[in-house]
Amino acid sequence: MTAQLINGKDLSQQIRKNIKEKASQLTEKYRQPCLAVILVGEDPASQVYVRNKVKSCEDCGIKSILQRLPADSTEKEVIDLINALNQDKEVDGILVQLPLPKHISEQKIIETIDVAKDVDGFHLHNVGALSCGLPCLKPCTPHGVIKMLESANIDLEGKLALVLGRSNIVGKPMAQLLLEKNATVILAHSKTRNLQKLTLQADVIIAAVGRPLFLKAEMVKPGAVVIDVGINRNSEGKLCGDVDFENVKETAGFITPVPGGVGPMTITMLLENTLIAAENSFQKKENQ
Ligand code: NDP
Repeated sequence: MTAQLINGKDLSQQIRKNIKEKASQLTEKYRQPCLAVILVGEDPASQVYVRNKVKSCEDCGIKSILQRLPADSTEKEVIDLINALNQDKEVDGILVQLPLPKHISEQKIIETIDVAKDVDGFHLHNVGALSCGLPCLKPCTPHGVIKMLESANIDLEGKLALVLGRSNIVGKPMAQLLLEKNATVILAHSKTRNLQKLTLQADVIIAAVGRPLFLKAEMVKPGAVVIDVGINRNSEGKLCGDVDFENVKETAGFITPVPGGVGPMTITMLLENTLIAAENSFQKKENQ
């Protein structure tokens, strides 16, 4: 293997140590920071994600409130619950686990969350602030990727960074954050032509396509930094990323594994956002 591994699990543990310390200081000075998680329905993957989020909060001294609603809940019932949590002075962050049942509009639900409690960073206000380079709660997955690049001392200034995938939760905000770091950004998607020609020029590739082993070694410039956001199951049901890790690691300069890469960092950034939201709220109260 020629590539250096960027280990998201180890980095997460380091950051979570600081989060735990900060949470304990805030608890002593004000009250325990608190994240409310809403799970609608019984989707098995969502249940695992939510369990991990709740457990991670507990491990870091952040209070968590899990609100479960049945799959046949109406949109209004979910909105009413969010409005109650918006009003609750003891709740700092609100996360609605996606996807939601088809009869509920995700956009409507996200827009109901108080901007100051939007720890996923999906509210239009936070999305707009991010694209204007203004302070905001940053979306967890792309923010986690930036932290991983920083941890490996990768200077992004002037580098050609290619983001594979343009979803609202990963690809687009990822491009914004790379731009903020002065990278020159290509945002590629399913309609992109001559993809390999583009990827071969990139100094940094962030793969967020949702297709197992999509990024092959012959698409990667020798020495490039390759970050794998993908979480997929291969034909044997084993967890794998969007990058053909076994072969790409022989070409890339840096690479992230799946599992143990971007995944743990996403939750860590959620914890960090909850602390930021709590601190902002305590500060606001002090200034009143
Ligand atoms: P989406 O399905 O919303 O987006 C996938 C993107 O990939 C789209 O923009 C699509 O293009 C593009 N794409 C699909 N096929 C191709 C292709 N052949 N060539 C080029 N581009 C293509 O996925 P998400 O962004 O939500 O997630 C991406 C992956 O990241 C998934 O595996 C998901 O599980 C994982 N993920 C991991 C997280 C973590 O914490 N590690 C968090 C969130 C997601 P188009 O827009 O044209 O359709």
